[in-house]
Amino acid sequence: MTRKIAILGATGSVGKSTLDLVERNSDRFEIVAVTACTNAEALADIARRTKAKLAVLADESRLTDLRELLSGTDCRCAGGAAALKEAASGDAELVIAAIVGCAGLVPVMAAVEAGKTVALANKEALVTAGQLMTQAARASGANLLPVDSEHNAIFQCLAGGRIEDVAKIILTASGGPFRTASAELIANATPAQAVAHPNWSMGAKISVDSATMMNKGLELIEARYLFGLPSERIDVLIHPQSVVHSLVEFVDGSVLAQLGAPDMRIPIAYALAWPERMATPAQRLDLAAIACLDFEAPDLGRFPALRLAREALETGGAAPIMLNAANEVAVAGFLAGRLRFPEIPELVEKALEDSNSATPRVIGDVLEIDRATRSSVEALMSEGCH
Ligand code: NAD
Ligand code: MG
Repeated sequence: MTRKIAILGATGSVGKSTLDLVERNSDRFEIVAVTACTNAEALADIARRTKAKLAVLADESRLTDLRELLSGTDCRCAGGAAALKEAASGDAELVIAAIVGCAGLVPVMAAVEAGKTVALANKEALVTAGQLMTQAARASGANLLPVDSEHNAIFQCLAGGRIEDVAKIILTASGGPFRTASAELIANATPAQAVAHPNWSMGAKISVDSATMMNKGLELIEARYLFGLPSERIDVLIHPQSVVHSLVEFVDGSVLAQLGAPDMRIPIAYALAWPERMATPAQRLDLAAIACLDFEAPDLGRFPALRLAREALETGGAAPIMLNAANEVAVAGFLAGRLRFPEIPELVEKALEDSNSATPRVIGDVLEIDRATRSSVEALMSEGCH
């Protein structure tokens, strides 16, 4: 029996790791739909290789090119928001949500509402609509399987356990490329330095998030919704080697952790094969060679993004949506050379001044808060008053 899968964001880093696993296990999986933003060539190549039935580009202006590239195949080509939703809610049983940013929210919600099993890498979707998405999953019977390595580790540690027996969860963080850097060096960080992650190879946006530690902040909020624990029972611990992917402390004082090489194919494989497991080509851990594992407390002074995310989580309502939108705009601004690195959390903090705890009732409310925050942060950035 093969499982039908759709890969949203097939051309990205998580998308490629997923394809690598699926292509090594072609007897277990059948790819029915693949999506990308604008790269028609890369998407066409994937669709040809995997014999996908549907290929969707979010950017409709490249749809003619995609059609030409896939002519002679029986892959249907489509573009735009409705087609993304169709890829997410169509034939697939398992949807790999690997779009980056809030752009993934509407298709992920479509998959959840259609009762799919959703392997969720796209943390921004859960950060912005955590309550609505978990409610929708309960209503439709959809399973949300965390692909983010920390949440996947916690999910593994909880297997067979009861959430009532958990005292707290501890998210590990590598600390990123500036873990030991002085505040002065961080102030002058370039995009090339910021995306050079010491342990993981990832897309540009999450790499910058790791450098500011906003990534861990988004993951705090992600953990809140995936596991239903309040902020004070979710800790962050710096662990530079990225071998211990996260830990769960139980009420009796036992602590369970999941360990492995820093290779996203391990958590992706767990989600692909769940509730079973499957082999991966990931490097095996050689703990004797590693010899030492280090842990330290995070420094909220040099990394204010982590504090801002925790505050947004505790405020609730619109705050996590605004935090995420402001961060997406600021990171894009930094990568385009329009902002200095420390201005990313500064702009996020400014955006959050207007936040409130009014809870969005429908996805349209989330999208409206996201849009309004983007335009006010964009205006702040253009005016240079930050
Ligand atoms: P990436 O930039 O490498 O890939 C992003 C994918 O999303 C691409 O396929 C791109 O075409 C698509 N996309 C971008 N903008 C889009 C839009 N507006 N509409 C539709 N599609 C769009 O990103 P990534 O590193 O693979 O990360 C994907 C998600 O997974 C992010 O939410 C990230 O936080 C999360 N994640 C990634 C890793 C990792 O190792 N890369 C680890 C944990 C979590
Ligand atoms: Mg992570």
